[in-house]
Amino acid sequence: QDALAFLKQQIRTVPDWPEPGVQFRDITPLLSNPRAFRVLIDQFVHRYFDQQPTAVAGLDARGFIIGSVLAYELNIGFVPIRKKGKLPFTTVEETYELEYGNATVEMHTDAVKTGDRVVLIDDLIATGGTMMAGKRLLERLGATVIEGAAIVDLPELGGSKRLRDSGLPLFTLVDFE
Ligand code: IMP
Repeated sequence: QDALAFLKQQIRTVPDWPEPGVQFRDITPLLSNPRAFRVLIDQFVHRYFDQQPTAVAGLDARGFIIGSVLAYELNIGFVPIRKKGKLPFTTVEETYELEYGNATVEMHTDAVKTGDRVVLIDDLIATGGTMMAGKRLLERLGATVIEGAAIVDLPELGGSKRLRDSGLPLFTLVDFE
């Protein structure tokens, strides 16, 4: 599809960042190009308009950028899932493993409620650990995650397969090996 090829062209690959051997997929050129940013958001709006989600939850930090615009376009609320220590009110948290060490994400306990139908969004799925932690938080608060969404999937890392195997439908726009 043309739109997706266009979007893929706007993603920059930065070799050896943040450490040697890593090819970082950088979406900032996509965000700063107004035509690309619109095409990007329209992909998600068309995907979710008819599904009537009740909220968009975005993963810290690039999930906030696309998730908040999507929520605005769908006329629903936006919920941030943040790295630990940033949210002021009562929170629930989930810790998950990284290659070295672990990470914790948090949500406000009143951010969603039982029966909410949530789209969970981030820029990129690698091992799937971040999105899995977000899904667990939303479900602990009684919400249903109708789909996980991301711009980029790195299928060779197995995260998208793990997430789908766990029962989470996924919608991603661009693959990189
Ligand atoms: P995962 O938890 O291993 O799936 O890693 C995904 C998380 O790490 C997302 O929040 C991404 O923003 C971030 N991330 C990992 N690799 C990249 C990359 O190459 N480009 C942009 N973000 C990345």
